[in-house]
Amino acid sequence: MNTTDRFLSQTHTVKNQPPALEDYNLFAEDQALQEAVKREGAAWSEQDLLRFGAECGLPERITLGFAANANKPQLMTHDRFGHRIDQIDFHPSYHQLMDIAITEGLHASPWANPKPGAHVARAAKYYLHTQVEAAHGCPITMTFAAIPALHHQPDLLAKFGPKIMAPEYDGRNVPDTMKHGMTIGMAMTEKQGGSDVRTNTTKAYAIGAEGPGKAYELVGHKWFVSAPMCDAFLVLAQTEKGLSCFLLPRWRPDGTKNALHIQQLKNKMGNVANASSECELRGALAWMVGEEGRGVRTIIEMVAMTRYDCMIGSSSGMRQAIVQAIHHAQHRSAFGATLVDQPLMQNVLADLALESEAAMTLTMRMARAMDQQDNEHERLLARIATPIGKYWICKRTPNHAYEAMEVIGGMGVMENTIMPRLFRESPVNAIWEGSGNVQCLDILRAIQKEPEVLEAYFNELQRAVGTDKRFDFFVSKLKADFSSTPKEQWQYQARYFADHMAIALQAALLLQHAPAYIADAFCASRLTAHTSANYGCLPTGLDPRAIIKRALSA
Ligand SMILES: Cc1cc2nc3c(=O)[nH]c(=O)nc-3n(C[C@H](O)[C@H](O)[C@H](O)COP(=O)(O)OP(=O)(O)OC[C@H]3O[C@@H](n4cnc5c(N)ncnc54)[C@H](O)[C@@H]3O)c2cc1C
Repeated sequence: MNTTDRFLSQTHTVKNQPPALEDYNLFAEDQALQEAVKREGAAWSEQDLLRFGAECGLPERITLGFAANANKPQLMTHDRFGHRIDQIDFHPSYHQLMDIAITEGLHASPWANPKPGAHVARAAKYYLHTQVEAAHGCPITMTFAAIPALHHQPDLLAKFGPKIMAPEYDGRNVPDTMKHGMTIGMAMTEKQGGSDVRTNTTKAYAIGAEGPGKAYELVGHKWFVSAPMCDAFLVLAQTEKGLSCFLLPRWRPDGTKNALHIQQLKNKMGNVANASSECELRGALAWMVGEEGRGVRTIIEMVAMTRYDCMIGSSSGMRQAIVQAIHHAQHRSAFGATLVDQPLMQNVLADLALESEAAMTLTMRMARAMDQQDNEHERLLARIATPIGKYWICKRTPNHAYEAMEVIGGMGVMENTIMPRLFRESPVNAIWEGSGNVQCLDILRAIQKEPEVLEAYFNELQRAVGTDKRFDFFVSKLKADFSSTPKEQWQYQARYFADHMAIALQAALLLQHAPAYIADAFCASRLTAHTSANYGCLPTGLDPRAIIKRALSA
C-alpha cells in the first residue's frame, strides 16, 4: 500500500453486487407466459402485453410499488371541524397504481369488452402488474369480481355497471354521482364467524317494500372490510328470510354520507399499501341484490372470481421472486464461481422456477376456462379447479418467497429490496377469500353437489395420460384413493386430495405444453418419492440450466 492509498477517503471498491433489476420487459422476458397467452387464446393481446411489460419494468413504475408500501394509508374518521368523514389518505403512488390498473382494464376488461381470450389477456396483464405491487390488486380484484354477482340484480347492474366497468379511476372521497368510474369492495366477515358467514348478525331492515332491488338499512358490524374507500360494497346481512346480499354505497344518492363508519384500520403484516378496516353499519342504506335469503349464492359469484384472482396474484408473486433470485445469482459470485453456475444453487433455482411456471400454467388454463363458460367441460373444470388452484398456489407461495429471499442472502432481508414485501404479501391470499381448509372443503362440496366436476377433472388429466409413466401411475393412484376412501373420511383427508389434485393438474398441463425438460423435472420431483419438504432437492438426471434459462436468460 503506498502513502497515497492510505490517505484516500475511499475505503473500498464496491464489487460483486448485481445491478438493479429494472428497465426490463416483464412480458418479453417471460417465455412461459408468452406461450401460455398464445395457447390459451389471447395471441391478439401480445403487442399490448409487450408494451405493458416494458412499462412495468421501468424504474419509475417499480418505485411506485416501494413508495406505496413505505407510506401506509392513514384513517381520518373526522375532519378538524368534527364532521364524520371516514377518509383514508394514501400516498400518491397508490393512486397512480390504481389509476394504471383501471385505465388498463384490469378491473373489468372481460366484462367491458368480452371476446375470446379476454380473461386470458386480462390475467396476463394482472400477472405483470402485481409483480410491481400486489396490494392495490385487492380493490381491483373486488371491482372485477362484483360484476358477476350484480348480474343477479339487473336493475342495479344497469345503473352501476357502466361506471364500475369504466376505465376511469377517481380516488376522491365524494359521492359516486360525481364520478365517472367506481370501485367495489366486499364485506362478509364478522367477528363471531368469518368462514362461517351463516353466523353473521348484521341485520337489514326494509325501508319500504321488501325484496330484490329494494332499499334497506343495515345495522351491525364487519370485522374485515378491505379497501374501505371503495365507492360501494357487496355486503351480507340477515333479513327474516336469512342471509341476503346487498349493494351498499359509500355515499347516499342525496349526497349525504352513508352510515358505514370505519372504526379503525387493521395493522397488517403485509399488503400494507392497501387499507383493510373494521366497520360499523349504523342504518346504512343498501339495495338487495338477488333473491332474499340466498345471499351466499349471490355473493359466491364474486367470491369465485376473487379466488381465481388469488391464483393470478400468488403466481405473480412467485414469478417476481424467481426473477429476482435468478438475476441475483447471475451476477453474484461466491467461492470463486458465479452462483448461478454452482450445482446446489442451480438445484434451488430450478426448483423455484418449476414451481413458478407450474403455478402460472395452471392459472392461465383457468383463465381460458373463464373465457369458455358456455362450454360444459370448462364450466365444470372451473368449478373444481378454482378451489384446487387457489388452495395450492397460494399455499406454495410463502415458502417460495422465503427461499427466493435466501438466494439473495442478507440483502434479501432488507426493505430496500422487494423480497420482504413479497414475503409479507405471500400468506395473505392463502387466508383471504377462504383459507386453505375452506378451499379443501369447497372441493368436496363441489364433488358432492355435482359429481360431474370430478369426471371433468379426470377428463382434463386424461389429455396427458400416456405421455409419462410416473404421471399415469399418479393419476391411477389418485382415482383409486377416491374410490377406496370411505366418504366419511373425505373431510379428514381433504388436504391429501387437494394436494394431489393440484400437482396432477399442473403435471398434466406441463406434460402437454411445456418443454420436455420442464415436464420431466416436474414429474421427477413432484410425482415420485423424491418429493421433499424443501426446495432444492431435485433428483439428478435433469437439466437445471435449461430450466433456469427458460425462467430468465442472462
Ligand atoms: C388482508 C385481509 C383482507 C381481508 N379483507 C376482507 C374483505 O375485504 N372482506 C371480507 O369480508 N373479509 C376480508 N378478510 C377476511 C377473510 O376473508 C377471513 O379472515 C377468512 O375468510 C377467514 O375467516 P376468519 O378470519 O374468521 O377465520 P375462521 O373462519 O375462524 O377460520 C379459522 C381457521 O379455521 C379453518 N376452518 C374454518 N372452518 C373449518 C372447517 N369446517 N374445518 C376445518 N377448518 C376450518 C379456516 O380455514 C382457518 O384456517 C380479509 C382477511 C385478510 C387477512
